[in-house]
Amino acid sequence: MSAPFYITTPIYYVNDVPHIGHAYTTVAADFVARWRRLHGDDVVFLTGTDEHGLKVQRSAEAQGVTPREWADRTAQRFVEAWRGLDISNDDFIRTTEPRHYHAVQQFLQTVYDNGFIELGTYEGLYCVPCEAYYTEEELNDGRCPIHDRPVDHVTEENYFFRLSAFEDRLLEHYTKHPDAVQPESRRNEVLGFIRQGLRDFSMSRTSIDWGIPLPWDSSHVTYVWFDALFNYCTAVGYGADPARFERYWPVNYHLVGKDILRFHAVYWPAMLMAGGLEPPQCVFAHGWLLVGGEKMSKTRLNQIFPADLVADFGVDGVRYHFLADQRFGPDGDFSYESMVARYNADLANNFGNLASRVLNMAVSYLGGTVPEERANGPLAAAVPRAYEAMVGAMADLDLAGALAALWELIRNANAYIEASEPWKLYKAGETEAVAGVLGDCLETLRAVALLASPAIPRASADLWRRLGLDGSPESERLPDAINIGRLPAGRSLVKGDSLFPRKDA
Ligand SMILES: [Zn+2]
Repeated sequence: MSAPFYITTPIYYVNDVPHIGHAYTTVAADFVARWRRLHGDDVVFLTGTDEHGLKVQRSAEAQGVTPREWADRTAQRFVEAWRGLDISNDDFIRTTEPRHYHAVQQFLQTVYDNGFIELGTYEGLYCVPCEAYYTEEELNDGRCPIHDRPVDHVTEENYFFRLSAFEDRLLEHYTKHPDAVQPESRRNEVLGFIRQGLRDFSMSRTSIDWGIPLPWDSSHVTYVWFDALFNYCTAVGYGADPARFERYWPVNYHLVGKDILRFHAVYWPAMLMAGGLEPPQCVFAHGWLLVGGEKMSKTRLNQIFPADLVADFGVDGVRYHFLADQRFGPDGDFSYESMVARYNADLANNFGNLASRVLNMAVSYLGGTVPEERANGPLAAAVPRAYEAMVGAMADLDLAGALAALWELIRNANAYIEASEPWKLYKAGETEAVAGVLGDCLETLRAVALLASPAIPRASADLWRRLGLDGSPESERLPDAINIGRLPAGRSLVKGDSLFPRKDA
């Protein structure tokens, strides 16, 4: 029986245009999801779009269409962006779907019946793009700290969620589950926030129509968090399929940007507790992909779109860069120049070069078939070592570290070729020795294709075929599949074109 594994990206605001910030989180989640599938897990990988709220309503009005028409049109851009990056999500949730209305209303009624939602008057400073209230202290010179724009003063009758009732339970939860917020620095931030004291938050609006009505008072629609965050429960069957919900909840990982950490690691677990549900197993907050040292934003016009990079680097080139260029957690700087440099160094020179030189020699020296012989040289130990290092890194979501371990294996294989000089062995007529060395290298290439497949699925599948293997890396199951000796002798090898042609700077 395979283990359930549930991973999510945030749902992206449907008014946004998919940029590399969204792509960064989504590719990371995809890498983890593919890695778990390769280990035989029963994976649910969820992404989607957040489609309610004032901004969508306003944009639709400006375009002269209904909010639903506007959302239908704009959600499609995310679906297409992820298709263009080979994202293997199992589901794409839209918060305007009937399944979500049903689930949210059922959950709201439960939390209301449990006494954690009550009517009050809200007066506050409100940032429209954030759809969040701020206190004076949280603002920078009266401006939103995320958007750097003025906030509005708003007064209205709202329902409130009694977040303040959950301080102790949240602290207790995070003491018992020290890994429930990662990395460590983010956990400390969350604990600090809770210890400052939690304020009840407004969770309904009468001023907006575009949302899910409260089941006990339809003059209000639910506002932001009970709508947006609950997508994670809707998608695995809350209120519709109890057995399925039981299987996948609590979620293994919510991957989020650091700007929405507080909502995922404070509001969300409290909401779940209020509804009698378990908090997430882990909220993992990563940093921003900065462009020229600044967060991407529409107003600064520094957004970069994934499709433009795919045109230059291919799907695998883009995926690899996001995963390998910086540790998943801190902020990172994105630049086109560093992307070219890393592509050439890691993909063209290391990965691509290893594949082409081994396949070329095997075609020239061995007639293009996989030999029986194995030298059982240093690579026989380097392969399982690389795999074990990847397993350790992936358990910590150190995605760059996992790929670094694999690229260490690739460098070892290139070094082994330099050291054993098969071309000299061939000239000297030592055919068995040549076959042994290349046998080891071909086995290693198989392992590389397998282990790289969650990150760079296209090149890995291509290399798999060139090695004369059946199926695809995805049809294999780790850890067994890593064992040396899985490459059958006698198969026909294909040289093919360069897997990663070099790029000019
Ligand atoms: Zn804001």
